[in-house]
Amino acid sequence: VLDYTPPLQDVMFALDLVGLGELSASEVFAHADRDTVEGLLAEYGRFIAEQFGTVNELGDRQGATHHQDSGRVTLPPVIVEAYRRYVEAGWPSVPMGEAHGGGGFPWLVGIAMQEMLNSANMGFALCPLLTQGAIDALEHHGTEIQQETYLRKMVSGEWTGSMNLTEPEAGSDVGALRTKAWQEADGTWRVAGTKIYITYGEHNLTDNIVHLVLARVDGAPAGTKGISCFIVSGSEVNADGTLGVRNDVKCVSIEHKMGVHLSPTCVLSFGDDTGGAKAELIGEVNAGMRTMFTMMNNARLSVGVQGLAVAERAYQHAYNHATTRVQGRPVTGAVGDAIIGHPDVRRMLLTIRSTVEAMRLLCYTNAKAIDDARHSTDVVARATAQERADLLTPMSKGWSTDMGNEMCSLAVQVHGGMGFIEDTGVAQLSRDVRIAAIYEGTNGIQAMDLVGRKLGLRDGAVMRELIDEVRATASALTGDLAESGKHLAHAAERLASLSELMAQRQRTAPADLLAAATPFARLAATTVAAHLMGRQALASTGARRATAEFFITQVLPTAEGLVASIEAPSSAVMALSAQNLASS
Ligand SMILES: Cc1cc2nc3c(=O)[nH]c(=O)nc-3n(C[C@H](O)[C@H](O)[C@H](O)COP(=O)(O)OP(=O)(O)OC[C@H]3O[C@@H](n4cnc5c(N)ncnc54)[C@H](O)[C@@H]3O)c2cc1C
Repeated sequence: VLDYTPPLQDVMFALDLVGLGELSASEVFAHADRDTVEGLLAEYGRFIAEQFGTVNELGDRQGATHHQDSGRVTLPPVIVEAYRRYVEAGWPSVPMGEAHGGGGFPWLVGIAMQEMLNSANMGFALCPLLTQGAIDALEHHGTEIQQETYLRKMVSGEWTGSMNLTEPEAGSDVGALRTKAWQEADGTWRVAGTKIYITYGEHNLTDNIVHLVLARVDGAPAGTKGISCFIVSGSEVNADGTLGVRNDVKCVSIEHKMGVHLSPTCVLSFGDDTGGAKAELIGEVNAGMRTMFTMMNNARLSVGVQGLAVAERAYQHAYNHATTRVQGRPVTGAVGDAIIGHPDVRRMLLTIRSTVEAMRLLCYTNAKAIDDARHSTDVVARATAQERADLLTPMSKGWSTDMGNEMCSLAVQVHGGMGFIEDTGVAQLSRDVRIAAIYEGTNGIQAMDLVGRKLGLRDGAVMRELIDEVRATASALTGDLAESGKHLAHAAERLASLSELMAQRQRTAPADLLAAATPFARLAATTVAAHLMGRQALASTGARRATAEFFITQVLPTAEGLVASIEAPSSAVMALSAQNLASS
């Protein structure tokens, strides 16, 4: 299996392009100057490639183990040891807020670190990803005491976090959840119920796990309006910060999965032995969805980054194979030349490479908007940046994970038969990345979020402002980039008119809106990605300029093929009854 090499120069180029310099120039990020960030990422990349990249295949093969008698879950010892070193080196805290012991680096830098960690080992990277979601929720909605009790240890990585939304009857429809919560006579809270698919819900990396749990308080309204959010600490925390007795949370089983075998996906039972696990309410009763959205928004971007990250590693495999495998004589080459000489192989490689670069720019742009929304000194700029982040998030999540899947599949294709054999490692990447299009809101749900909520932000002005930027990039692509400029200008007008059509359907034809959501989301994200690649073309020479041109002139035009299905009413999609859809 090929080792992972962190693509430091590609990462730095993308960071520069999306505006790391602007962040470093601000007072709050003065310590995050370019040289410091590059040094940090170089060291981080080296560390995680060595500690987690080299055991990606081992993690896949050995996976997590559930011990039925105790309910405990263990990971392979090398992973436990690597985690210990990772925490000891202080890596988990780098992008977290300084108030609770974080390094105070921009989220943008944190996202670049997440890319590297997910390339190295997606099965492991899920642990800090879920912890980060829980940290976000506590930072925004926790009381001072809750923050003092939990945040410092979660930021340092001494404790991890888990997110407990899903139940057998409540997947995409979170509002259907049944886990109960009630207040005892002494004012303390209890939670009882079963959660499924809980990532890192139990493990032996740390001695405590802080579970954030969505539950329904007795008498709460139905649906999402009646959901409250609770902290259920794996063990009670004493006043001096040490751990007391274990709480009534048990891992009943873990799932056998298609990929990310290292990551324990747990069925967690709360309150089985005592009737209720001890819990603390976060925020107000029935306001749990707001808390969850805080943790989900950032987590959605992070899942998008998984698509990018795994595709980057798959590209490294594909490139390596294409330069060493000899088969046939390339049309413009000599006998004995490797398959990279074949135009069709070249097409596959350039498709993957340019799409990886485009995903990186999209996800990093999204992260930069999050930094601006949090830290810009101007209140209007903060609000505008938040709107931009809100608009981009379903695109980063949906498109980057769809592309992650498609690009990993293409990387398997470059390998020929070897791609299907587990020994190369690329098959694992393809299996691992599959889940990213499903969890944290399926990509169907992301597309519905884009057309149902995000297009309408500020009466459509947030989307229109973005389209104006696409137009400006198209106009700047002149001279030898004129062909790219033409394609991008066309795509910008398409996106403008289809966004109008979708807004109209939102008011008058919801079925047509929803039937077209997925093709529209793909067209929109491809166009925005092409706009960012246009900016790459303008800012670079050589290989980066060529891959940007390839993306705009070869990948972007494929979005045009979606127009007919977006414009059509839902009648074709809904023509058959459920019964008539059965095979016969
Ligand atoms: C490996 C793994 C890890 C996970 N980790 C966690 C975790 O840590 N915490 C947690 O809480 N959950 C976790 N999940 C759960 C995950 O978020 C859900 O599986 C996901 O949200 C989809 O829910 P579902 O499986 O019930 O599918 P369903 O909701 O049943 O969806 C089935 C299909 O129907 C579509 N669909 C559903 N509703 C609609 C609608 N209204 N309109 C259009 N289409 C719709 C979906 O897009 C999908 O294609 C994990 C799942 C897995 C497999």
